[in-house]
Amino acid sequence: MRPPKAKSAAPRIAHYASARANQLALAAMRAEILGCVRCEALVRCRSRVVPGAGATPAAIAFVGLAPGRLGADRTGIPFTGDRSGVLLRRMIGHARLGRVFITNLVRCNPRDALGRNRDPAPDEIANCRPHLEAELALARPRIVACLGRVSWRAMAGPDVPFDPRARLTIERGGTILYAMYHPAYVNRGAYPLKTYARDFIRLRRLAAPRRRRLALDVAISCSGAAG
Ligand code: SF4
Repeated sequence: MRPPKAKSAAPRIAHYASARANQLALAAMRAEILGCVRCEALVRCRSRVVPGAGATPAAIAFVGLAPGRLGADRTGIPFTGDRSGVLLRRMIGHARLGRVFITNLVRCNPRDALGRNRDPAPDEIANCRPHLEAELALARPRIVACLGRVSWRAMAGPDVPFDPRARLTIERGGTILYAMYHPAYVNRGAYPLKTYARDFIRLRRLAAPRRRRLALDVAISCSGAAG
C-alpha cells in the first residue's frame, strides 16, 4: 500500500507571504496618511489623523463620514470611543460579520468655530479621496457599506437616491455599494434599532457565499416576522 501523499505547503506559504505583503503595504499607506496636511482647516483642528483600520483583505468595508470629536479623534481608530462606534461595532458583532475594514470619507475631525463636529466640506472630501481609494484598493472588499447620505453620495454618485429602507445596493467597478444609516442617526432615535440590526443581517447575507444565503434568508424572514 502506498503511503498517503504529503500535503503541499505551497498554498500555506503563499497565503502567509501575501498576508505579510498586505501588512507591509498597510503600514506604508498608514505612514503616508498620518503625515497628510492637505486640508489646512482640518490640520488646525484635528488631534490626530485617523486612517482606516481592519482586515485586509476584507469582505466588507464600512465608510463613514469623519472621525468624531469624542471618538476616533481621541482614540486614533475609526468608530471607537463614542456612541456611534459602540453601536456600529455592536451591530457588526450581532450580525457576526467577519473580516471588516472600517474607515471614513475624511481622516481628520472637522470642527466648527465652536469646536463642535461639522460635516466635512466637499473640497476636504475630495482631498481625502485618494487615501480612501488606496485603503479600499488594499482591503479589496466585495461590499462597501456607506454609512449615511454624504458617504453614499460620495461613493454612489450625487444622483443616486439614498434610501436604506429600500435596502438599496448598486454596483460600481465590481464592488457592491450598500446604503445604510449612520449609527449617529439611529442613536438619535430616528431609525428603529431592531430594523438597523436586520439591515446588518442583510449585509451578512450579501457577503455570504451563495450556498449560505438560503439559510440566512430564512433567518431574516424569521426576524422580520418577530419584529
Ligand atoms: S482629511 Fe484627509 S486629505 Fe485632509 S488633511 Fe486629513 S488626511 Fe489629509
